[in-house]
Amino acid sequence: MKSRLAPTPSGYLHIGNILSFCLTDYLARSYNAPLLLRIDDMDSDRVRPQYLEDIFSSLLWLGFHWEEGPITVADFEQQYSQRHRLPLYEKALTDLRDSGCLFACTCSRKTADLCSCLTKGISFEQPGVQWRINTAGAGLSDSLNNFVVRKKDGMPAYQLCSVVDDLHFRVTLVVRGEDLRDSTRAQLFLASRFPANDFSGILFFHHPLILGANGSKLSKSAGATSVQYLREKNPDRRDLFRLIGRSCGLGDAIDSKEAVAQAFLQSHPFTGS
Ligand SMILES: [Zn+2]
Repeated sequence: MKSRLAPTPSGYLHIGNILSFCLTDYLARSYNAPLLLRIDDMDSDRVRPQYLEDIFSSLLWLGFHWEEGPITVADFEQQYSQRHRLPLYEKALTDLRDSGCLFACTCSRKTADLCSCLTKGISFEQPGVQWRINTAGAGLSDSLNNFVVRKKDGMPAYQLCSVVDDLHFRVTLVVRGEDLRDSTRAQLFLASRFPANDFSGILFFHHPLILGANGSKLSKSAGATSVQYLREKNPDRRDLFRLIGRSCGLGDAIDSKEAVAQAFLQSHPFTGS
């Protein structure tokens, strides 16, 4: 087996991300599975160098280590940026298009809800079109109905890159927040459209999220829960793990990434699905 930490450098890491990484790390170790650090930087509008730097400094400070993937920002840029895997994404898109499960769409974000491009036969080569996958029968939520796999600027979309990467790196254990259950369904559907893959053998674990004070999801701009802020305030990392423990209702005796994962998994057992 192999698992991965897959942060996106579009904000500073927060305690919600770290909970997910504690669980990933613990489950990977318990399966004796190597860990890959996979940084999703394809959404270049949102990627910032300081967020990229933060991934390395925060993970190292918290004591995470990984067997595969970049060890510094420079190493990431030189070898592991998703830009280097563009030919893989393009091949996947061409294969999907040739197999007849995609259609081109000219809708804007505002009119996408009413998209009827499926039956219009719009040319894939028309400038400015996006490519969507026909998700009929997949049972996805409205927001992922016929989701985009290639954006209007010609770049591959998030779901496509994520599936191609997991297949490429042979990841077999994925830990994600419960908010991404729909995204997982979309990825499984997408993978099922590839000619040959073993994506259906991947184990998924969706865990409950740490919520903010008002019950909302932690955002990447939630300063007070960012690792960077907490580390500046208190350089003892055990306090950050204690905060995660308290935020998850796990008690006060949590002071390591292993303790977070063990206590969390006692109340939310990993079954793999
Ligand atoms: Zn459309």
